[in-house]
Amino acid sequence: MKLFLHVIFPIFLVLSLMFATSFLNAENTDKPICDLAEEILSKSIVIDAHSHPLQSTYFSNPESFDLGIDSKSSQVDFIKMKASHINGVFYPMPIYFRTEEKLTLEQRISQSITLIETQVKKYNTLAAFAFSSKDIQHNFDQDLRSIMLSTENENIFRGQIDNIEKSYNLGIRQVTILNSNLDVYGIPGKEEGSVTGLSDFGKEAIREMNRLGIIIDITHTEDILQKAIIQHSEAPVIASHSNTRSVNATSRNIPDDILKMIAQKGGIICVTFDKGWISSEHLAKRAEARKKMEEERKILEEKLGKDNKEISTRIEELRSKLYGENVDIELLIDHIDHIVKTVGVDYVGLGSDFGAADYFYPEELNNFKDYTRIACSFLKRGYKEEDIRKIMGENLLRVMKEVEKISDIYKKKIKN
Ligand SMILES: [Zn+2]
Repeated sequence: MKLFLHVIFPIFLVLSLMFATSFLNAENTDKPICDLAEEILSKSIVIDAHSHPLQSTYFSNPESFDLGIDSKSSQVDFIKMKASHINGVFYPMPIYFRTEEKLTLEQRISQSITLIETQVKKYNTLAAFAFSSKDIQHNFDQDLRSIMLSTENENIFRGQIDNIEKSYNLGIRQVTILNSNLDVYGIPGKEEGSVTGLSDFGKEAIREMNRLGIIIDITHTEDILQKAIIQHSEAPVIASHSNTRSVNATSRNIPDDILKMIAQKGGIICVTFDKGWISSEHLAKRAEARKKMEEERKILEEKLGKDNKEISTRIEELRSKLYGENVDIELLIDHIDHIVKTVGVDYVGLGSDFGAADYFYPEELNNFKDYTRIACSFLKRGYKEEDIRKIMGENLLRVMKEVEKISDIYKKKIKN
């Protein structure tokens, strides 16, 4: 009996425990890694910093515009968001339609906002507007996807400071400053398209966005202006849809010294899914493709006459063929790895820039439904769950909170 109690029983116990844990481990490793990724996303706050709901769908076919339908023509609808556990998105609001009418800035942005508002009201069990980080949390708790408004347009404020507050009052919470506004925000340099620093309006605009609690996006500005904006802003600044220049050396992507500046201020770089900004090889092919398209256009114009409508259809067909070559999604993850290695996992997010034709994006990452595929790659590369959650949305939520905090300080200062 003693032999059983002191020797055989303990050996039996240890062996059965070993068997049980190896069984559990086997179950874990056997579970497809992408199922695990999906499980992580289902309990995380996932936010896309920049994607267009109106570009490819509304403008090409206004009658069929419907964000509550999982249609082939839309990449960023509410159904696709739900399918891949995306809880929040910034939709840029165009201001350029019906320009023939003399409308105020408010009236022109309002047209776009009304289109989205109609959809949010129609599908109020799927989505709701969010105007603050608290709204995102509230919507998340109610299983509603947060729709947030931003702008990415030609001189949105037209050099008038009070237009910034008007945009804020309409619901805009993120503004992309554009290169085409260099002379508005920057002091023009000697060379064409260059700047030497922020203009007085630029400084005032940044202060106003800090005061109101609008996120400043430097995606479409050139290096000197990007640096000046980051230095001047009291709140963190983001690049809402940019990749890294170290992995793909194009001026459209962010160089390491600016990555560091963004991170030092607490901001983030949201990587983007356009193949041209992911892969340098693909970008070179696009340049060749553009040449070929120009040649083809000339031939067609000679053959069919300059104003023939068939020309643009044929050129579009050619573009989809020439731009069609795939880019491996892993190359996008390389950009994220580079940001993580250079500044850390707290300073990276996602901004798909979906909304153009599908041949602009990798095959495996072609609409909102494919978001789980990114988390799957993270797991394969050994990223921890905690880090995946940060990249997929928590980092952007942190930036929003910080921007709101700075705005609160401004408001308190004014009260006292
Ligand atoms: Zn853009």
